[in-house]
Amino acid sequence: MRDILGQKRAKRILENAIRQGKIPHFFIFTGPNGVGKVSMAKEFTMALNCISTDQSKPCRNCNICLSIINNKNPDFVLINNETIGITQTRELREIAFLSPISSRYRVFVIENAENLTLPSANSLLKVLEEPPSSTIFIFTVKNPDNILKTIVSRALIVPFSPVKRDIIFSILVEKGCPEDTALEISYLSEGDVEKAIEIFETGNLERKIVPYLDIESLESPDEILDIISLSLRDNIIKLAGGNERFIISKTYRSIINSNNLESLMENFFFIQEIKSLEESNSDWKLALALLYRELEVK
Ligand SMILES: [Zn+2]
Repeated sequence: MRDILGQKRAKRILENAIRQGKIPHFFIFTGPNGVGKVSMAKEFTMALNCISTDQSKPCRNCNICLSIINNKNPDFVLINNETIGITQTRELREIAFLSPISSRYRVFVIENAENLTLPSANSLLKVLEEPPSSTIFIFTVKNPDNILKTIVSRALIVPFSPVKRDIIFSILVEKGCPEDTALEISYLSEGDVEKAIEIFETGNLERKIVPYLDIESLESPDEILDIISLSLRDNIIKLAGGNERFIISKTYRSIINSNNLESLMENFFFIQEIKSLEESNSDWKLALALLYRELEVK
């Protein structure tokens, strides 16, 4: 299988499953967005179904491989709706029990499986408990804590890591992004390739820092925290007398007014705490407001 965005561990787990000849019927790919989970699912489907006589699969050349590459294979089903309701999962269950059309295995990929409503997750449980022999389910999720434990316990978990900054940097430069900007975006995007490309392609580099009074209306603190943490990092380097060449944000003004090195260092850890508050669905808005005050964000 091809190496996708440096996800060697995920690739190894999937290759081992194929090599041992005992393919689990349910996988959960976990990790941040934009790290290649769906691409890896496609690669895995090809490796399972490739009809080439070559040793190394997928060949990317046989009819099956080509149809999957071109999104024309009816046995590779990608579902990526905002919400996945009961009607759709019922349909899905019915199809799951039919034989694949052209391949050995039919693979259903449910992207962002956090979007499954509770009834639909429950309706899928049955088929995940006793999956038809030629059907494989792959859920992609950011964090497995966000889906039913009874579901998670049936799956083989395949962890994906944030994409390394140098890989994101190269992807952006290849797309024509100037190196200075690519470096900055590679820090801002926190290992998420899709986000990095979006920042570059939309030209949306002007920092959108939300005013203090608008914190209440935020849906997620992620973007703000990424921006603050980059500014914070650069301010710490400046105040500590570090070399100018280590400063990443050259294009933008700093959004942090505080010049208190000790407070800046402490708040670096506070950012991580706010992120974990969000992950555990706790109230992070108050904490973010406090961070604004501490750092004198403007
Ligand atoms: Zn092939």
